Formats: sequence, structure tokens, C-alpha cells
Amino acid sequence: MSTEYHSERLSKNFLRGEFSCRGSACCNGSAAIERELVESLQDFHDQLSLLLGETVQLIINSGFRCLKHNREIHSKDTSQHPRGTAADVKRPDNVSIEALTRAALSIPALKNGGIIIYWWGLHLDIRNGAYREDKRLVKKDFTLEELEEE
Ligand SMILES: [Zn+2]
Ligand SMILES: [Zn+2]
Repeated sequence: MSTEYHSERLSKNFLRGEFSCRGSACCNGSAAIERELVESLQDFHDQLSLLLGETVQLIINSGFRCLKHNREIHSKDTSQHPRGTAADVKRPDNVSIEALTRAALSIPALKNGGIIIYWWGLHLDIRNGAYREDKRLVKKDFTLEELEEE
């Protein structure tokens, strides 16, 4: 994929290249990401920035993954990543995982989609139907259910 392809601005703070497949010998960095996901992540970014009082720089660890790369990393074929409907967002150093999760829950498409907590941050997707999982290895200090009750 060309530099032009990857430098396309999909929203105020996200470029297409940030969502490209990270596999080395597969789809040549394809980034077939869904618009609704990008829009939701932009809202998520804006919400976090508002909370922090400064523009936050979000790092996408993984966005689109072609099936070949998805299999290489032993993810299921049914994963949201090959559909372009998921992004793994690294937790910024100055944001708690709890604040990050609350911000995600404030965005309707993310609240109605998948939120998976990892030690490094959040997997977010816009599947139709709320899905929650906590894959942190360390002891939990809060549960997703507790956050959603409020
Ligand atoms: Zn690929
Ligand atoms: Zn993910």
C-alpha cells in the first residue's frame, strides 16, 4: 500500500495507516477499517481529551488484520479485527485503565459493542451487542459491571 493510502486522514486525529495490518508477508499493510469504528474512536479520543484537559495521543496497537495475519497470531477467524470493526488501544501513561474504560462506555457504539480489558489497554469493537471480558492477569480493582451500573 502506498504512503498516500496510509496518510489519508480518516478523522481529525486518526490516519488510515494507524489501522493497517501489521503482518509482514500478507496484505501489504491493508487498512480496511470501518468508518463507524473510526468515528467512535474519534469521539472516544475527544472524551478522554476533555477529561484530561489536554489533547491525548492515542496509540492503536492493532486495527485491521487480514485473515492470514490474524491466524498467524492465533486469533480466531471470528475476531472483529479482520472485519475492520475493532481496534486495540494502548493505555496512555497518564490515564488509569478505569478512566479509559469509562470513556469508552460513554460512546454509544462502543458501549453497545465489545470492550475487553487487557493489562496494556483496551480492545474496542463495534459489534452489534454488548460484549465484555476482562483479560488482565493481575488482581482486579473494579469490574466492568460496577462501572456500567452508574
Ligand atoms: Zn495482512
Ligand atoms: Zn483486539
